[in-house]
Amino acid sequence: MDLDRIHSVIIKQKEHFNRGETRPLAVRQAHLEALRQAVKRYEAEIIAALRADLGKSELEAYSTEIGFLLEEIRFVSKRMKGWAKPRKVKTAPTHIGSRGVIIPEPYGTALIIAPWNYPFQLALSPLVCAIAAGNTAVLKPSELTPTVSALLARLVADTFAPEVVAVIEGGVEETTELLRQPFDYIFFTGSVPVGRIVMEAAAKRLIPVTLELGGKSPCIVHRDAKLELAAKRIAFGKFANSGQTCIAPDYLLVHEEVKDELLRHLQAAVEEFYGREPVRNPDYGRIVSRRHYDRLVRFLGDGRSVFGGQSDDEALRIAPTALDGVSPEAPVMQEEIFGPILPVLTYREIGETIAAVNAKPKPLALYLFTEDAGVQREVVEKVSFGGGCINDTLMHIATPYLPFGGVGESGMGSYHGESSFKAFSHFKSVLKQTTLFDIAFRYPSAKNGLKLM
Ligand code: NAD
Repeated sequence: MDLDRIHSVIIKQKEHFNRGETRPLAVRQAHLEALRQAVKRYEAEIIAALRADLGKSELEAYSTEIGFLLEEIRFVSKRMKGWAKPRKVKTAPTHIGSRGVIIPEPYGTALIIAPWNYPFQLALSPLVCAIAAGNTAVLKPSELTPTVSALLARLVADTFAPEVVAVIEGGVEETTELLRQPFDYIFFTGSVPVGRIVMEAAAKRLIPVTLELGGKSPCIVHRDAKLELAAKRIAFGKFANSGQTCIAPDYLLVHEEVKDELLRHLQAAVEEFYGREPVRNPDYGRIVSRRHYDRLVRFLGDGRSVFGGQSDDEALRIAPTALDGVSPEAPVMQEEIFGPILPVLTYREIGETIAAVNAKPKPLALYLFTEDAGVQREVVEKVSFGGGCINDTLMHIATPYLPFGGVGESGMGSYHGESSFKAFSHFKSVLKQTTLFDIAFRYPSAKNGLKLM
């Protein structure tokens, strides 16, 4: 580990920030434009790196990583001037003569820690508003996707001076060292256990954090759902990136009357998307590491495969699988699956699903398929979750108008679009008082009254 580099990068970034170099809007705009151009310039290499580390197809690499990021840059560049403006607000009647103003200001030097599942996008999406809000930033990509990590280091070094944005590569040891540094803000995306470590480290220095974590996101399919469409949208959300998506539907809660029909449609959708032998399909992604692969293969024994169930030890691929006959106590129902295995549980009354979901930690996402507005209202009102969709999966993450984040164990804080800008900003409140008159009753010694100055 290059301790000297870690220390010197942070010191230089802090000095750069304290000189006010990142404050002017024109500088921030230029940083965003430089990032946009770099992504364009490196596009072919990014696609190749994502294929090398995760077996991602070009279509998936573009739609979920590169295109996603370019859209965030475009959206933010267009609006950041408005978001950065100080906002005048009313004051209370007791404050007559004064004015209030809320001034967004950058925190300073931000640390962004990224996971491996969307290793490009999840490192750079938070960076967009880190720099739009006027911060400097250190990125720590995941060591489990080493090709993307090395590429990010090169792309960033080629685009930004290290005192503006720098990449520190590495794993637990480097991240632990970074967490000892005097950052002004930490943005973490990853697992719940590491989220706790990050928050503990931040608490020692009272550094504000955003935690984008994971968990078990339920997918409820009610009796009246349009089953063929639901199946397509569930297969899309569950099996993209081989199920290694933080907001993938983790398990299915389906009304018992429509289970068989839904599973038939699901199997057909999987065949349509990935062919009859997904483990041999070069465009079907692989599991990131042998450790995760072995963990997932063990889950296959927790139920009966309705379809799928095949795995390839060499290619680290597991076929899209629906698991029936799963006990709610089985290991596959205890931890976030993060792979292409979908346990199927049934219910009779919607109230049962609400109780089952509420008995677990608050999920990052929830999906509900039903045409019934009453059921939609009931579930949304009675279950706390980070965000989600009615009659779709994943798509809530892809609109910059919706803040994205978790609640409870699935995270704290949110980002994307304006909420990202807010995440990377402190909102400084200033009261501008009049000196034309003074109200005497505020002072301990004075009699009531107004005194002109
Ligand atoms: P992880 O928590 O293992 O790793 C995330 C980052 O933390 C990596 O950069 C890693 O190097 C670092 N890290 C790992 N162990 C550490 C330790 N002991 N001390 C300090 N740093 C450490 O997560 P992951 O396996 O990369 O990603 C999968 C998890 O991330 C899943 O739980 C998933 O749901 C979650 N996730 C959440 C979102 C979201 O937006 N909410 C997005 C993607 C992934």
